[in-house]
Amino acid sequence: MPNLSTYTTSTVYKKYRNRNTHIVSKYTIEYIIPTLNGITKTKKMTSLTSNNKNVDDNIHKKRIVVVGRGMIGSSLYKYLCKDDNKQLEIFCIGPNETKGKANIFGAWYDEGRITRCSDPNITWATLAKSSIEQYRAIENESNIKFYHEVGHLVVGSKNQVHMKNVFDVVEKNNLKDTEKILSLEELKQRYPYANLNTKDNSPVGLLEKKRSGHISPRKFVEAQCKIGQLQNNKSTIINKKVIAIRPDKNDKNKWCIEAVNNENSNDIDNDNIDIFKIGDIDHIVIAAGAWMNFRPLLYNNLKQRIFINIQLMCTQVSKFEISIEEAKQFDNMPSLIYKDLLSFWAYVLPPIMYPDKKVYMKIGGGYFDTPQKELKTENDVIKWYQSKGDQDLHSKITTFFYQLFPNVKVLSSHSDSCITCHTKTKQLFIGPICNNTMSVACGGNGYAAKSADAIGKLASDMVLKNVLNCNNAWDDECIKKFKPEIGIVQKN
Ligand SMILES: Cc1cc2nc3c(=O)[nH]c(=O)nc-3n(C[C@H](O)[C@H](O)[C@H](O)COP(=O)(O)OP(=O)(O)OC[C@H]3O[C@@H](n4cnc5c(N)ncnc54)[C@H](O)[C@@H]3O)c2cc1C
Repeated sequence: MPNLSTYTTSTVYKKYRNRNTHIVSKYTIEYIIPTLNGITKTKKMTSLTSNNKNVDDNIHKKRIVVVGRGMIGSSLYKYLCKDDNKQLEIFCIGPNETKGKANIFGAWYDEGRITRCSDPNITWATLAKSSIEQYRAIENESNIKFYHEVGHLVVGSKNQVHMKNVFDVVEKNNLKDTEKILSLEELKQRYPYANLNTKDNSPVGLLEKKRSGHISPRKFVEAQCKIGQLQNNKSTIINKKVIAIRPDKNDKNKWCIEAVNNENSNDIDNDNIDIFKIGDIDHIVIAAGAWMNFRPLLYNNLKQRIFINIQLMCTQVSKFEISIEEAKQFDNMPSLIYKDLLSFWAYVLPPIMYPDKKVYMKIGGGYFDTPQKELKTENDVIKWYQSKGDQDLHSKITTFFYQLFPNVKVLSSHSDSCITCHTKTKQLFIGPICNNTMSVACGGNGYAAKSADAIGKLASDMVLKNVLNCNNAWDDECIKKFKPEIGIVQKN
């Protein structure tokens, strides 16, 4: 193994002929820095070398790169780092939260995600339960607090299949500390600030008192990354976005990644940007959320470009600012999912303080007669993420918010956009797509925030099984359930 603390200067590719290139190891990391960019070369190189300074020179490393540093990617990265196999060298590449000219975003740029074990689908309920069981350990290990165990309430009509499924899952999963609330009067008594009636006057509720509430997705991602980095000196986080993945020119069975800063918006055709490269990669696992199918990222066994069969759906976010004084009346409010039989379903977060030090109640959901819009192209996705959401839907949701909380005094209301990635099976896609050198972990279906830790563990076991032939927990049922559906990208 070459000594990673020494490097030479060279020049690569005609396109970048005016830039200095630093080759950090005999094979692999080429780092391109423009001469006059104001950042010292040594400073940039240190982050790459210091992580690797204690490597055992006699071991041939397997290089694994996670693309995407969101809720799934950061959890996967953590579990890969936790594996004590000395053969592994782990990278996680994905941008920090960025606004402005950025053109890649994440579904985790927020402070409130509902977490609960009572999902009506047994797989999602099980994944959520195992994740939630890890929250306190993650907080302790990272010293970052992200979990608010305020409980979770689901309300719907007693005539709805949805509520029957919720009650069934509670029994099947033997969920403790739950309580059925069987009348409107009881709901009113407990939550006097909320009007939880349904159109057919038959509301029922299920309250999960423990192991539920809400999490901060921002802090969760931060915590998972921090734990990964604390594990060993063979892992590196890179704050960049990948613009291309290609077969490594020195070894066709390996991969090379090209990445740039996320602040560069017109990155694809821009000749004036720094390209960061990692080569000699044994396995890439792509957890890029809504961006899975853009750029050349995904390939099959024949090195044909492929796509993953996911649907990207516009998700409207509406936030209502209230004063700290006003928030006091919601002191016992759990996170809430409310489904009316006929018109609207909603999820509502209790008052949460955001980084701007203001308190907001967040609500999302949809009208059954207004289907969610699907986004098809990368441009559509960027435009939607850069927008302030759908103003019509925001005003409909505002009306609903006041129906739900008739006496609340709102200081201001805010509309925003987000995206959820759906699969036909409503299950995750986790599995290899190109021999044992490339795999994917995606398809959160709007449920993955609460379950991300368990998804990361599943994906990490799958990757390790592929790369090291370890006997990790992947049985046939798992392989079948999460098998990614793919198609070949047709050239025009
Ligand atoms: C408004 C809203 C509310 C939600 N509420 C809930 C909830 O209450 N409970 C719940 O369980 N779930 C909820 N979800 C769903 C949950 O947030 C998602 O399922 C989850 O965040 C998906 O995780 P992910 O890692 O697949 O994607 P993301 O968290 O979006 O992460 C993908 C990451 O990949 C990175 N990336 C993309 N392209 C590249 C590239 N080319 N190179 C490098 N990095 C790249 C992005 O920067 C991003 O960080 C909600 C989603 C939305 C939008």
